[in-house]
Amino acid sequence: MTAEPVTTQQQTAPAQVPPTVRASLSPSRAADFKTCPLLYRFRSIDRLPERPSVEQVRGTLVHAVLERLFDLPAAGRTPTAAGDLVAPQWDRLVTEQPELAGLFPGDDPAAVAEFLRSATALLDGYFTVEDPRRLEPAERESLISAVVDDELLIRGYLDRLDVAPDGALRVVDYKTGGAPREAFEARALFQLKFYALVLWRTRGVVPRVLRLLYLRDAEVCDYTPDAEELERFERTVVALWRAIEQATERRDFRPRPSRLCDWCSHQAHCPTFGGTPPPFPESAASADPLRDARSRPAPPPGADE
Ligand code: SF4
Repeated sequence: MTAEPVTTQQQTAPAQVPPTVRASLSPSRAADFKTCPLLYRFRSIDRLPERPSVEQVRGTLVHAVLERLFDLPAAGRTPTAAGDLVAPQWDRLVTEQPELAGLFPGDDPAAVAEFLRSATALLDGYFTVEDPRRLEPAERESLISAVVDDELLIRGYLDRLDVAPDGALRVVDYKTGGAPREAFEARALFQLKFYALVLWRTRGVVPRVLRLLYLRDAEVCDYTPDAEELERFERTVVALWRAIEQATERRDFRPRPSRLCDWCSHQAHCPTFGGTPPPFPESAASADPLRDARSRPAPPPGADE
């Protein structure tokens, strides 16, 4: 058990966009481009719809329960209390996003019950690796952002930020997916370094620990970044952004097949699988590159992509 007492602080408000900023980038979209430029195009430029999988929706539900769990008094954060939050949180999600009910054809009660049971099982995995009664997270599902290279706004949602009494930061990300970890770990770490860079640039503190909590396997993966590494990472993010700009100017987003293709929703449009991308949406390419940054983005799906 690795939990430790931490202090509470206010959530970070989304930053105003400074006038020098020309574009914004989230860790998910940056990781998309790094994984496969064509995947980035499909998601960020074509904005092709993606039907969430049962696994992704289960991730969203488990994230919602873990967020609410910390609303309870510390002593009440038990596995039973977490289990009791599952059904009400599912009802809330379906009310807010009625399309989620479509995951279970005919609203099959047995399928829904099995789905809720599987979410509870993931929460049991959480309690194997952490004791939330000993934690007081500083921030949960918090939108953080920073400007790098004067022109690029980087921003994203943290699952959780813990602040120790000595001010040390621990960034925590819950992983709920059942996909092989090795296929996704580099992407997950990229995302955590992204958050670490934002925190370093906005608070002047390099997080002491970047923590991945694998709920299915009940395992913890800790990573300790340092300032030199985050400086290099910042250069990588800026270079990625320039590569995205160049690809957009040239209308040139190439497929990069990998194991992650097995989880890609866009194989039907991908030349690697015999598909044809839709015509390049010129209006999207010339749209305001800060359109996403001017509004609060939708919270992340919570699932491991
Ligand atoms: S199927 Fe693979 S290569 Fe094609 S867009 Fe998706 S991730 Fe890229």
